[in-house]
Amino acid sequence: MRLILGIDFDNTLVSYDDVMHSSAVRLGLIDKDVPRSKQNIRDEIRHLPDGEMKWCKFQAFVYGECMNEARLMEGAKDFIELSKKRGIQVFIVSHKTKFAAADKKGIDLRQVALGWMNTHGFFDDEGLGLSPQDVYFEMTRKEKVERIKELGCTHFIDDLKEVFLEKTFPEGVEKILFAPQEDCHTSGDMKVFTSWGRIYEYFFR
Ligand SMILES: [Mg+2]
Repeated sequence: MRLILGIDFDNTLVSYDDVMHSSAVRLGLIDKDVPRSKQNIRDEIRHLPDGEMKWCKFQAFVYGECMNEARLMEGAKDFIELSKKRGIQVFIVSHKTKFAAADKKGIDLRQVALGWMNTHGFFDDEGLGLSPQDVYFEMTRKEKVERIKELGCTHFIDDLKEVFLEKTFPEGVEKILFAPQEDCHTSGDMKVFTSWGRIYEYFFR
């Protein structure tokens, strides 16, 4: 079977844990003892007065102005490099609006994300070997699922269960949940992996 892999971007290929933590501490939104994970930081900020609004603003700030401080998820590069070497098609499909509603500066989040990919060797033959044409940004989760269908993905890797739970998620596409915080191995018809190293083993060993 010819493999066509679709991969989510935010919090699957790119980790915001460190930059979120340092920015949130700097802005006085969280205590420095809060664990360095997006989920913990989000929960803390959401519990503040006007928490939901603060979280949206903060997230827009990090995805826009702090993107250059975000890190490539450990092990993701090796996985994509080998996939490309084996002739597996790889697409990035992200639910990312062009602008964040909570950002008044009008930063183009898609351009920022593409710039970050460029800096991290996504489009170098010596790097991950992708092309900007392999990257799709969609307005809504539904449109993301449509894109997964249209590209004929055989597998999709995402950190968000909700993507797989969409009613229109195409049957027969293997659901791979990237969940560094979880310790279970399956969840319904999803395969759950806690690291890119584990995903690598699953595909290539
Ligand atoms: Mg994501």
